[in-house]
Amino acid sequence: MNRKEAIALDRKDPFAKKRKLFQLPKGKIYLDGNSLGVLPKAAVARVKHAVEVEWGGDLISSWNKHGWWELPHKVGDKIAKLIGAPSGSVVAIDTISVNLFKVLSAAINKRYERKIILSDSGNFPSDLYVAQGITQFMNDGHVLKVVEPEQVFDAITEEVGVVMVTEVDYRSARRHDMKAITARAHAKGCLVIWDLAHSAGAVPGRLMEVDADFALGCTYKYLNGGPGSPAFVFVHPRLQNEVVPALVGWWGHANPFAFDQTFLPAHGVARFRVGTQPMLNLVALDAALDAYQGVSMQKLYGKGKKQCAMFADLAEARCGKYGITLFGSRNWDERGSHVCLEHKNAYAVMQALIARGVVGDFRAPNLMRFGFTPMYTSYADVYDAVEHLHEVLAQRLWNKKKFLARKAVT
Ligand SMILES: *Cc1c(COP(=O)(O)O)cnc(C)c1O
Repeated sequence: MNRKEAIALDRKDPFAKKRKLFQLPKGKIYLDGNSLGVLPKAAVARVKHAVEVEWGGDLISSWNKHGWWELPHKVGDKIAKLIGAPSGSVVAIDTISVNLFKVLSAAINKRYERKIILSDSGNFPSDLYVAQGITQFMNDGHVLKVVEPEQVFDAITEEVGVVMVTEVDYRSARRHDMKAITARAHAKGCLVIWDLAHSAGAVPGRLMEVDADFALGCTYKYLNGGPGSPAFVFVHPRLQNEVVPALVGWWGHANPFAFDQTFLPAHGVARFRVGTQPMLNLVALDAALDAYQGVSMQKLYGKGKKQCAMFADLAEARCGKYGITLFGSRNWDERGSHVCLEHKNAYAVMQALIARGVVGDFRAPNLMRFGFTPMYTSYADVYDAVEHLHEVLAQRLWNKKKFLARKAVT
């Protein structure tokens, strides 16, 4: 592959026209949309309206007049379409960690007599922390069991109450087989919680098809909702009125404006709401999701996989001699839309790349992570990123004091 061929791919790319919906930072090749998506231009006008007209002018009447109260559900319905869930089964609220607390507590309660929560070592640490927090608080023999990702299927037994796994590994990009794991869990009488943080907006969602019980995910990654945009919760319709989270609040009450002294859960997924939501973030997310109108998730994922494969192949071919290797499987159908490369000086190499305008991130201990967001990443970006990587390595441009010192956020 040469640069001309990459440009030819861009010319034929059906998603090339989506690129202009986004404000791409000038002079940068942004390959970190899997961590913080870029700004959708539509969000600028929408937030401006929400600030000046809704907050600035209509103030409290905006809860009704501008649909603020219902917005978590309206946004949830837009997300539902992307993750294979029916309308009314998803609500956009809080963070993944908070939502996981709600969903996991509800699931544990439903399988109370079973003491094991099963997860794997590829899961995002925050998910494991939430489970540790709950079991420590319960102090009644519930335990978190963490196995290797490849062992999850076999570790699902009748002692397990809840299987809590993330579809796409945040480092290796390995995808779990959602259908097989969920089917096995149901056969053994367990409930399953899927974290779609690195799936939503990148990988076609199949929640109903795989018969998931619960799911959650964030919206500031591939969905471009902006920093701190609310996460989402999915609860299968058969469970929505059967479970109650341990964390509840007035927004999840059956009749919030009756101000009853006793909690009575709202009908459906609304009971997973807790308290007042960040409306400015929600309107930004609402506008951001419109970029997905008319998009085939299969085709979008197809482009993502192709870009991942192109990047990994070029990087290994051009930079293998400097110690670059692909982390994770080469089976692109079993992966999400990012690539981690291993290198012993990964942190400094990434800092040198960022200084040149190629933005990815670093994940301990020795990984450089590059996200391919097919809605706005071009094939020329992929090609050029490898050229920069090659230069940084060949000329040892990373070997400078300023690139070696660690920052707080990596
Ligand atoms: C990004 C990510 C999170 C982040 O959780 P927040 O509580 O929303 O900050 C959680 N889980 C996984 C798997 C992630 O990739």
